[in-house]
Amino acid sequence: MSIGENIKYIQQLKAQAAERSGRSGDDVLLVAVTKLHSAEEINEAIDCGITDIGENKVQEIMDKYEKVKPVRWHLIGHLQTNKVKYIIDKVSMIHSVDSLHLAKEIDKRAAQHGLVMDILIQVNSAMEESKFGITTDQTGDMIHDILQQCPNVRIRGLMCIAPFEDNPDDARVYFAEVKKLFDTYKNIENPNLDFKYLSMGMSNDFEVAIEEGSNLIRVGTSIFGARDYSKKMG
Ligand SMILES: *Cc1c(COP(=O)(O)O)cnc(C)c1O
Repeated sequence: MSIGENIKYIQQLKAQAAERSGRSGDDVLLVAVTKLHSAEEINEAIDCGITDIGENKVQEIMDKYEKVKPVRWHLIGHLQTNKVKYIIDKVSMIHSVDSLHLAKEIDKRAAQHGLVMDILIQVNSAMEESKFGITTDQTGDMIHDILQQCPNVRIRGLMCIAPFEDNPDDARVYFAEVKKLFDTYKNIENPNLDFKYLSMGMSNDFEVAIEEGSNLIRVGTSIFGARDYSKKMG
């Protein structure tokens, strides 16, 4: 299947899952995850209606930025503090904030560019050691600290990567836990705490994630095919 056909199919599944949770497909944003895929493939996806793309490495954003048509870029992978400066004026949202230290660097660089950066807090609800993110218990303190210390950062919601399960139903509890946390913040009125996005769900589990309340899915493999990790970008 072509990239365009895959996108159409994902849009269909996304709409059906949204309807199962009492919403419509338009309520769920599809971010196409383009890591290890070329600018040409990304442009093809944009021609097929993709408005938002996600990369997990700063270097790949740098390499492809000039070659890709206008689109919203999302940084979805672990971000090292010393690399914030390279992407601060390129991405529209950073999904992977998991420390005050990182938030403060984003704040500092955003101020230098006269902008306010949208971020999500990455929550590791399954507490997997192999994954980044803070625990659900730590989230309140982290939000409080960022609000106190980072005026050029706007917290737009939460992000979660569930454990990979052969049966995606088994990830449901982790999504549900993050949704519960999301709901406790979503009606707070504060210009720097404006919850809108719950970023959960990948190729393997996005339908379950949507059923549990996700409104932003990050899908790579199901759009572009398997990634070739032997291929170095650049
Ligand atoms: C790679 C990646 C995805 C997409 O994964 P697929 O299984 O290819 O859909 C989503 N989120 C993050 C953070 C990723 O690194």
